[in-house]
Amino acid sequence: MAVSDHVNLDEFMTGLRRRNPGETEFHQAVYEVAANVFDFIADKEIYHEMQILRRIAEPDRIISFRVCWEDDNGNIRVNRGYRVQNNNSIGPYKGGLRFHPSVNQSILKFLAFEQTFKNSLTGLPMGGGKGGSDFNPKGKSNNEVMRFCQSFMTELHRHVGEDTDVPAGDIGVGAREIGYLFGQWKRLTNKFTGTLTGKGREYGGSPIRTEATGYGTVYMLQDMLQQAGEDLEGKTCLVSGSGNVATYAIEKINHLGGKAVTASDSSGFVYDAHGIDTERLAFLMELKNVRRGRIEEYAKEFGAEFYAGERPWRVAADVALPCATQNEISTAEAQTMIGNGIKAVSEGANMPTEQEGIHEFTNAKVLFAPSKAANAGGVAISGLEMSQNSARITWKEQELQDLLRNIMGDIHTSCVEYGKGEDGYIDYVKGANIAGFIKVADAMIAYGVV
Ligand code: NDP
Repeated sequence: MAVSDHVNLDEFMTGLRRRNPGETEFHQAVYEVAANVFDFIADKEIYHEMQILRRIAEPDRIISFRVCWEDDNGNIRVNRGYRVQNNNSIGPYKGGLRFHPSVNQSILKFLAFEQTFKNSLTGLPMGGGKGGSDFNPKGKSNNEVMRFCQSFMTELHRHVGEDTDVPAGDIGVGAREIGYLFGQWKRLTNKFTGTLTGKGREYGGSPIRTEATGYGTVYMLQDMLQQAGEDLEGKTCLVSGSGNVATYAIEKINHLGGKAVTASDSSGFVYDAHGIDTERLAFLMELKNVRRGRIEEYAKEFGAEFYAGERPWRVAADVALPCATQNEISTAEAQTMIGNGIKAVSEGANMPTEQEGIHEFTNAKVLFAPSKAANAGGVAISGLEMSQNSARITWKEQELQDLLRNIMGDIHTSCVEYGKGEDGYIDYVKGANIAGFIKVADAMIAYGVV
């Protein structure tokens, strides 16, 4: 077939939208990758002939199931559970579980698709998957969360395993939920193997897994700034979110001499001109992770400003780390940030910037690390948790800290290799998409048509 006979990007996307009606987040994630990959494979016949992109954008399988559980008042409650197993060409499916009322098939398909490239970028043998439920852990008692997790795992256990699919945490799934899920998996299978990551240290969890995503996102920011001849020292940073990723990103910003001036949750954001230093961060972590309170309390405690129902992006700062959720930086907000002189953005959350917002940043030559590169540190340490579980050993914390730093450095290098333009500007989106694609695509070609 002549190259000119291949479908073009528009035709590809039209087909994808037709086959996946209404799944806007999934369309958005695929478009972001396809736009770069189509350019890259224009003269590489084998990728067209083998329909690689078309196949990566069709999950290997989607499992959807009913989750019944009983609340503390004896009412029967029904939620929907999912596992999207997108691609296992380079290793067992691997990706988090999200418990949030917004969860639907489109969101999990986008996350599983993204995860496939992210996991490839880490250089570790992990395929891409994602799962979760529309269950809302907020306001539920520990016993209710436990009963839900046990019911969820009663179905999920058929589909996961240490060499098949290894889930982890994500929004709404932290140490407590992983404990309940692993406990039920162990009870059902009578096995003790590394089927979930993000486990407690007492039962097979890895040192630094909790910190890894936030730290890694800041390492990516540090590497981008250094590549451009700058430094994080003394820079003001906008951070959104106040969960696992956001709080450890703030901790690492503080280690490296930056100053985080904002944090947020789904009720609004706080602006703290003093900076969220070590003492204030400890309060924030206790507030959000232990007491599960609202962020306004932080503002009251330290005399900071609280803006109900708003996001932090109109505050002027040097760099930004969106660490809450998808599509939390709109195109207009990206324009405001550019107008305020933002120098770099490193995405801690998955797909936090709207499609057009990304174009605004890259057109303005802002250093922009997409989530699949910037937040890969978490899954990288999860991959190393799997290795430790298989070998039944635990590595020392410093070894893992060094490995995380090196993996993030290698991801940065891969992005530069494939993303550097003639004018010297590094398009990290393009770099990450192409570097992540090649390894998965070449493995798929080796397998033939399967
Ligand atoms: P958490 O549940 O620990 O925290 C999520 C934070 O985001 C909370 O502050 C929450 O506020 C806020 N948030 C959630 N939804 C919204 C919304 N619609 N609008 C505004 N704020 C919102 O999750 P994580 O920190 O683990 O995850 C954050 C992001 O990072 C997600 O995109 C996740 O997919 C991604 N990620 C996480 C990894 C990890 O290792 N944990 C790995 C890679 C990516 P509230 O308290 O009000 O709910």
